[in-house]
Amino acid sequence: MSKLSAKLMVKPGRKIRLTRIDAGSVAGVKDKPAAAARLVKNIARLAELQYLLYAERKHAVLIVFQAMDAGGKDGTIRSVMSGLNPQGCRVIPFKVPVGEEREHDFLWRIHRSTPAFGEIGIFNRSHYEDVLVVRVQNLAPKAVWSERFEHINAFERLLVASGVKILKFFLHISREEQQARLQQRLRDPTKHWKVSPADFEDRKRWDDYMAAYEDVFRRCSTSWAPWYVIPADKKWYRNLAVSQVIVEALEDMNLKLPESAPEVRELLAARR
Ligand code: AMP
Ligand code: MG
Repeated sequence: MSKLSAKLMVKPGRKIRLTRIDAGSVAGVKDKPAAAARLVKNIARLAELQYLLYAERKHAVLIVFQAMDAGGKDGTIRSVMSGLNPQGCRVIPFKVPVGEEREHDFLWRIHRSTPAFGEIGIFNRSHYEDVLVVRVQNLAPKAVWSERFEHINAFERLLVASGVKILKFFLHISREEQQARLQQRLRDPTKHWKVSPADFEDRKRWDDYMAAYEDVFRRCSTSWAPWYVIPADKKWYRNLAVSQVIVEALEDMNLKLPESAPEVRELLAARR
């Protein structure tokens, strides 16, 4: 399964139709046991790469997750990131803006949450909400949100130029799968905390959301910060695919241990 990332990436400028991408696809993977074995390896490799990233402290990694409700953001983070050292990684959820977040531009809360060199930052939702929910629910006029694609591209370009590797994942579930997952949550009292009436309101606007996502991919999948559309009806495929894209991207970064400091080399020499 070589370079799954190339297959799942939205090529810059490309117009994609989400209805033409099968959310149940398992392309590039033999079967569930093969995927499980591969995931274990990827999680271990990710831990090694994180060690280099942390030691080198020259780059940061920013991983963005977007999906419809019950799309699997939480589960993906729990599974794929399970081997990371918590010391070098941070998950930041973005909810409806409150307080001083409302008193700044939409990127203010995002920029201050970006990972430092050496760190992996994981966004559970992101600045893309400002061209998704804001657009679909009419929370700002078109004149405002339509300008944001360019602001986002410029902002992400700044991050990349400063040493941040950006990977953006859309977990693509079908409308039927969402229905099944929301029903499942309603049947299970331990999952009730995850359900809100807004999920069902958003569900009614499914097609509007898909159109908004398609615009996001067309406008904001860039050579410097690509979007990946991950078929996510099957959790085992989703987890494997996300882990694979992250591992492939971090391998490409050529992370290296820093050279030992002169004083450490002296220490070694003195002990010989
Ligand atoms: P959840 O991730 O299910 O806990 O829900 C967070 C909610 O916050 C979602 O319904 C998002 O659409 C909403 N949200 C996140 N960012 C924004 C934003 N910038 N403007 C409006 N709503 C947002
Ligand atoms: Mg919600």
